[in-house]
Amino acid sequence: MHNKTIAQLSQGLKNRDFSSVELTQHYLQRINSSNLNAFISVTADLAIEQARAADDKIAQGKANILTGIPYAHKDIFCTNGVKTSAGSKMLDNFIAPYDASVSHNLNQADLVMLGKANMDEFAMGSSTETSYYGATLNPWDGKKTPGGSSGGSAAAVAGRLAPCATGTDTGGSIRQPASLCGITGLKPTYGRVSRYGMIAYASSLDQAGPITQTAQDAALLLNVMAGFDEKDSTSSQQKTQDYSANLNNSIKGLTIGLPKEFFADGLDDDVATKVLAAVKEFEALGATVKQISLPNSAYAIPAYYIVAPCECSSNLSRMDGVRFGHRCDNPKDLDDLYLSSRTEGFGEEVKRRIMIGTYALSAGYYDAYYLKAQKIRHLISDDFKAAFADVDVIMGPVSPTIAWDLGSIKNPVDMYLADIYTLSANLAGLPAMSIPAGFSQNLPVGLQLIGNYWSEAKLLNIAHQFQQATDHHQQTPQ
Ligand code: GLN
Repeated sequence: MHNKTIAQLSQGLKNRDFSSVELTQHYLQRINSSNLNAFISVTADLAIEQARAADDKIAQGKANILTGIPYAHKDIFCTNGVKTSAGSKMLDNFIAPYDASVSHNLNQADLVMLGKANMDEFAMGSSTETSYYGATLNPWDGKKTPGGSSGGSAAAVAGRLAPCATGTDTGGSIRQPASLCGITGLKPTYGRVSRYGMIAYASSLDQAGPITQTAQDAALLLNVMAGFDEKDSTSSQQKTQDYSANLNNSIKGLTIGLPKEFFADGLDDDVATKVLAAVKEFEALGATVKQISLPNSAYAIPAYYIVAPCECSSNLSRMDGVRFGHRCDNPKDLDDLYLSSRTEGFGEEVKRRIMIGTYALSAGYYDAYYLKAQKIRHLISDDFKAAFADVDVIMGPVSPTIAWDLGSIKNPVDMYLADIYTLSANLAGLPAMSIPAGFSQNLPVGLQLIGNYWSEAKLLNIAHQFQQATDHHQQTPQ
């Protein structure tokens, strides 16, 4: 049952092959006996209650396609009455008093929340190791990282602890764990999915999206996640589409751009081989390939690692020990209350970023760092604009390597370098996906697809056509 996609499970529920309660219990049992540490909290009672309500709807003929489908929810989305920690000690005692818009939309669509998925603290990291709740393990090899920051979500889907999950992607956090865990992840165009109630990391970059086994499933979830939300002033009025409607369009005549900068030094040879083999597969499906250049790609890491810390230093200032979250014991005075609460509540990587951001935003350095980084961001967007005049989609690797050993990257800058191929799409605000493209040393390799603004339906169509012709996405860890 747990190897089925959402589309298949939905059919099973409709045919009464099993009930949502049975399905939910099945996943709860799998979560219980798993050692992946994919969840921060498991909301078993709530899940059964939601599954019962879903079964009632199915019995009354009032079900939609997602009614009764269980999912893992990244612990960055506020969930009314349920602990929402963002992977931090700071929010270990935080019970959200309202639902994020994404949580609300999934509830309205009758999905069943199994629990809150593990993640890097405040989504800062590429390995899930910065979580206060300990690292998540990669289902393909428990010694390896599942990637991050949505590592709990990706491990839950790959380890078949949930048929689908939510993620957020500020610099790669949906695509990179999807890649390292051999599943499908979509980061939509900035503004496509509401950020309301999603604990903010870097507000001009953060975007939520689905993590699933297949592109077809990602389309189903995006259908309920996407849309304008008056509660998020950066959510877009651009019309949504039925993302499931065009999955079967032929991709004959598609032009794929391969940026030379994505295949340069630093990319593992075997990852390159697998990515290029996947591109060949697209040629067999009727696509043509063009070499392109994104000349400012090299500046994505320095620009991102200024913009993101600056914005996080501002966003995280609300965690002050006063309004919510961790508060130190017996502060000497108000300053000590702030200082000690934040010292105790935040982990090392979060503090590092707050320090960098505060420094870069300070009066004397603003122009030299933040403003400069924003200008580079423009140049990176312009590179994409020029590229999309000639090609329909850009392809390349997601991660320069396969999943690495937990604990093996000790220098923070080395961890930042792992984000080299994912950051540009966030800086430009473009939609991008990771889909399974094969294996290297028995670990998954992901192929990245970057599309033009609002081209989610097209990306999903391209990914679906690939998945109809290949079986990488059907492989499961033992
Ligand atoms: N690894 C990147 C970072 O640490 C991206 C994280 C994310 O997308 N949330 O900032």
